[in-house]
Amino acid sequence: MKVGIIGGGASGIMSAIAISKKAKDLKLNDISITIHESNDVLGKKILASGNGQCNLTNKSISINNYQSSNKSILSKILNSFTYDDCINIWREFGLLTVDEKGWVYPNTKQSKTVVSILERELDRYNIKIKYNSLVEKVEYNNKTFTLKCTDKIMTEVSKSKPDFKNEDKNKSKKTITMTNTYEYNRLIISTGGQGSAVKGSNGSGYIFARKLGHKITQVLPGLVGLKTSGLNTSGIKSFRIISKLKFTHIYDENFPKEDFDYLENNDEIIITKLENSFQVEVKGEVQITYYGISGIPVFQLSTFISKILSKDKTIDITIDFLPDFSKEYIVEFLLMAYWNNPIISLKELLKGLFPEELIDIIFVNENNRYKNKLNDQLKKELDFIKDDINKPLVELYKLKVKDIVLDEYNIAIFISDIIGKFKNFNISVYDTNGFKNAQGCLGGISLEDINPKNMESKIIKGLYFGGEVTDVLGQCGGYNLHYAWATGNIIGDNFFEEMN
Ligand SMILES: Cc1cc2nc3c(=O)[nH]c(=O)nc-3n(C[C@H](O)[C@H](O)[C@H](O)COP(=O)(O)OP(=O)(O)OC[C@H]3O[C@@H](n4cnc5c(N)ncnc54)[C@H](O)[C@@H]3O)c2cc1C
Repeated sequence: MKVGIIGGGASGIMSAIAISKKAKDLKLNDISITIHESNDVLGKKILASGNGQCNLTNKSISINNYQSSNKSILSKILNSFTYDDCINIWREFGLLTVDEKGWVYPNTKQSKTVVSILERELDRYNIKIKYNSLVEKVEYNNKTFTLKCTDKIMTEVSKSKPDFKNEDKNKSKKTITMTNTYEYNRLIISTGGQGSAVKGSNGSGYIFARKLGHKITQVLPGLVGLKTSGLNTSGIKSFRIISKLKFTHIYDENFPKEDFDYLENNDEIIITKLENSFQVEVKGEVQITYYGISGIPVFQLSTFISKILSKDKTIDITIDFLPDFSKEYIVEFLLMAYWNNPIISLKELLKGLFPEELIDIIFVNENNRYKNKLNDQLKKELDFIKDDINKPLVELYKLKVKDIVLDEYNIAIFISDIIGKFKNFNISVYDTNGFKNAQGCLGGISLEDINPKNMESKIIKGLYFGGEVTDVLGQCGGYNLHYAWATGNIIGDNFFEEMN
């Protein structure tokens, strides 16, 4: 039996190993497995995962951590490959794992350890890898899958004028592109979704599946940064700051309550239910970057926001840049610093609280915001902030609130006003940062067309789907790699069922 796998990512690799293991258990010798991978290496996404540390599963795997348009089928898939099953597989491979607040990593904290162990297993089972093999077309006729591929082969060519002193310099590398056709009795499509195109997933799996008669649910970027207006970040070097993001969602026919129930099951997200709406709050390390906001808390919200944006809506978010401290506490804290050094500038005063980049952004932003909205008189009064941020606070204060006596009370109000801006900063999200930069995809091949027992198509026998290409997206925290390992194993474990 010839088995073809499209995609050498987490799911494709795991299915190849699991099928081989099962074949060995059943003493089936006539099984040949080939992985077609368009990149020149395997597991590019695994290598990039968890910031190069590979967050490979999570202690609290449950249906509540995933989105899919068919949760009952997804539930069956997750139940057949639990957290313990996942840890056992890695134990069998000799990979020691560590858990940090439930997020599980290899003990080396290096993604390359995971890929190299998987490569060793592939090698052990003699699985063929066709690197630089881009599958362009998939056809199915007479129980045979035919793949049309563009294969790139690197060859060494000798130079016409050899250098006899330095033989190493006599050869150069050349890429030859060829179109080849391959035939398989069974096929696994594990091409990933459309996210992070640079890592090789370009959505081709959806095209193959659709042509073979399968439904594809709406595909949107998930686990992705958000483009915002209101934060003047163009040209900045990105930085991170612990913040709380807050927004209110009003239910409507496009976004009924049930659509977002999954948010309630996320430990890091606080939901307050109101009559016609609910408020969502998430705290964590937010990255402020040139296009807007990113980082894990933003990713956690992005799948929800991605859906709203797909219906042409914008979403307003309030950011608290000091979520662990009350305004009162900070005002008192800064007053002490101020009385200790009464000629301190506003910027110096705030420097102990926030990254300098944020201070600049907030005040530039304030300037622009007021310039657009306020009358000339007020503009004049507020224009000082950016230019005079380095002036002693006292001078600044006098510029702003002329004719008022400078006393402890007034300076406290002035500081409180300024801190208020950092604790209640309003921005508007108008887009996601796109598929190219997404760590996952919402939607994909409908689970309704897949048998959860073995991930086989309900439409074509001998065709299987694994990983991100299917309509499943997990939260950040190891859930997506877990799903990729799970589907790979489920395919392998049940691959020879009818032969048992
Ligand atoms: C930067 C980043 C960080 C992440 N961090 C984490 C994390 O820490 N934890 C976690 O759980 N998840 C993480 N994810 C998500 C996780 O990596 C993916 O969900 C998982 O790798 C999906 O595995 P897959 O095998 O389904 O698809 P992929 O890993 O995308 O593999 C698909 C493979 O198929 C190949 N391919 C596609 N089309 C073709 C074709 N036509 N012909 C030949 N080859 C093709 C691609 O080159 C690719 O190698 C991260 C993702 C990214 C992008």
